Amino acid sequence: MRIILFGPPGAGKGTQAKLMENKLNIPHLSTGDIFRNAIKNKTPLGVEVSKILESGKLVPDVTVVNLVGETIKQPIYQNGYILDGFPRTVPQAEAFDKVLKENGQQLDAFISMEVPEDELIKRISSRGEGRSDDTPEKIKVRLDVYNKETAPVMNYYKEKGLYQSVNGVGTVEEIFEKILATLKKQQGAG
Ligand code: ADP
Repeated sequence: MRIILFGPPGAGKGTQAKLMENKLNIPHLSTGDIFRNAIKNKTPLGVEVSKILESGKLVPDVTVVNLVGETIKQPIYQNGYILDGFPRTVPQAEAFDKVLKENGQQLDAFISMEVPEDELIKRISSRGEGRSDDTPEKIKVRLDVYNKETAPVMNYYKEKGLYQSVNGVGTVEEIFEKILATLKKQQGAG
């Protein structure tokens, strides 16, 4: 299955994607994780994006689209993937459609995790992962970017009839069960 796990920063996409990876045996593909690893390892990509991640703004669409396009060609992603953090703009969603088409692939599900903004701020401020973009000032930038550039991606998938939403407030297990139930329903429909 090819699944997009969508939601604002702090929604818990990474946590849920890891659980899904184990349960469904589909690899988790997080663009944020790829960037943070590249930065840690000082690769050319890392050098290119380090200042951008630090600022809380978005990496240019062409960089992200090329990265995802190359990554999903790898053998481990042939039978599917759980995308986390991509697509994050409407142009990325459009470009991703082209990539899927070129590879003769289809998207199976788009799951949006809904969490109110005050809860997001609380979660990110207290998660203590030491991320340089988890400061109050950068959190504000990321939420603004989300509202302006990323939220419209939901409409894109609503129009395609793929959009499903899950309440992202509750225990990790409760939310995970809801995601699994949503995927089952979607599979039944498709
Ligand atoms: P979060 O969801 O908590 O903001 P991510 O790990 O998904 O964290 O992303 C961290 C940062 O990586 C973003 O703020 C952005 O700078 C960059 N990034 C990740 N994915 C994308 C993307 N699809 N397009 C542009 N920038 C991205």
